[in-house]
Amino acid sequence: MRLVIMGPPGAGKGTQAAMIAEKYFVPHVSTGDIFRKNLKEGTPLGLKAKEYMNKGLLVPDEIVVEIVRDRLVEGDCKKGFLLDGFPRTVAQASALDEVLQKMDMKLDHVLNIDVRKETLIERAVGRRVCTVCGATYHVKYNCPSRVGICDVCDGKLIQREDDREETVVKRIEVYLEQTQPLIKYYSDKGLLADIDGQKEIEEVWEQITGVLGRDNK
Ligand code: ADP
Ligand code: AMP
Repeated sequence: MRLVIMGPPGAGKGTQAAMIAEKYFVPHVSTGDIFRKNLKEGTPLGLKAKEYMNKGLLVPDEIVVEIVRDRLVEGDCKKGFLLDGFPRTVAQASALDEVLQKMDMKLDHVLNIDVRKETLIERAVGRRVCTVCGATYHVKYNCPSRVGICDVCDGKLIQREDDREETVVKRIEVYLEQTQPLIKYYSDKGLLADIDGQKEIEEVWEQITGVLGRDNK
């Protein structure tokens, strides 16, 4: 299964993507996670991406496209993949089309998670992430069993630097301007599945398995 999950920042993409990856046995390829890993390791890519991420801006297309191109040729993507947070511009989407065409592959579904702006801000500002394994929590909607500590690996939970309210507002603006046009792009190709992301995590998951199939093949 070859999938894209899209939606504004804080919509719940990463939360659902982790569940999809586990049920349907596809690697979860998150460009945001790749940048954060590089940033943590202090690589030149991480330092370059930081300039954009902390301002709520998109990393330039050529940088992101190269990363995804390199990732999709890795062996584990042969059986399928789930792209989370990519593409984010029409230029990235057409670059992805070219990459897939060369590999003789096609996308099966684009899941579009729709959530109201006030909810996005509340979700992103309340998000906490594990500094060790990257697991995601929410202070109100998806609490860890011990405050500030990851259930999976006991790592310390922190707020992402780009989850401060003013940066979240900027990221939503950037989404509306640069990423929202992809809804028409994929709808015209007959690939789009609209998901009501306003609902609780389990209800959103029900809608997604309704699209992808209850069987995990
Ligand atoms: P994205 O990857 O789209 O930015 P996340 O999956 O990280 O979003 O979710 C943002 C925050 O909202 C996280 O703290 C997550 O635990 C929480 N969250 C995700 N889905 C829901 C939901 N359906 N209802 C309430 N909170 C949610
Ligand atoms: P995310 O984890 O998906 O919210 O991404 C965090 C940040 O990483 C974004 O706000 C961007 O600065 C950067 N980023 C992630 N994916 C992309 C992409 N496809 N294109 C450009 N920038 C990206």
